[in-house]
Amino acid sequence: MKLTVIGFLGGYPDHGNATSSYLLESGNFKLLIDCGSGALLSLEQVVDPLRLNAVILSHYHHDHTADVGVLQYYWQLHEKRYSEPVLPIYGHQLDDTNFKGLTWPDSSKGIAYDPGEALMVGPFTITFLKTHHPVSAFAMRIKETSTGKVLVFTADTAYFSGLTKFVRNADLLMTDTNFFANKTGQKWHMTSTESGQLAHDGTVHRLLLTHLPANGDLLQLKREAQATAGDSIPILVADTYLSVDI
Ligand SMILES: [Zn+2]
Ligand SMILES: [Zn+2]
Repeated sequence: MKLTVIGFLGGYPDHGNATSSYLLESGNFKLLIDCGSGALLSLEQVVDPLRLNAVILSHYHHDHTADVGVLQYYWQLHEKRYSEPVLPIYGHQLDDTNFKGLTWPDSSKGIAYDPGEALMVGPFTITFLKTHHPVSAFAMRIKETSTGKVLVFTADTAYFSGLTKFVRNADLLMTDTNFFANKTGQKWHMTSTESGQLAHDGTVHRLLLTHLPANGDLLQLKREAQATAGDSIPILVADTYLSVDI
């Protein structure tokens, strides 16, 4: 499977870069993970949005959902369809108002995932873990069913020990790394060193730092993560259109 970063910033878009959004492809199947601010413009550079097979949302913070509405209009205003008559958008149902917004006439249909159950979406089998975040949010462990390859996305979360088992042996771990190591005070996201530690403890194969701050030296962020991950785990830093074969 192939992951392409569509948006990687946490909080707000900046200098042409979108917030959280990732295209995951297996064969011809295209799953969009989160659909943050600016995501549709970047997605259009990679694929016709009408070719998406499904969208899945980790939670309903704006930096993960801001472009859902315009994606729905895109589908509504185009009659052409490829494989999907309407776009399935998967989200949790713990927030009824936001969940209801996933359905739009002639455009999209909201489908609730049960975080306690495995979800099959096309070629993927997805399991969930509730994260530590001010609103209900779910990390996803996405297995390409045919190959057994695994992508884990932490979604938004503070570090907690329960993540370690969930990320175990992932081929690619994609972590919410919104903070540098010296961040103090309340943290609803992980720091660079926590991301590295999680990769180390979970013995993952590769680490992708994402949900990045818009300001600061990202090479420093990477160095801090590498210090706890150890030298044997390759670390990638997210950037728009970065593509990773998993
Ligand atoms: Zn976020
Ligand atoms: Zn959030």
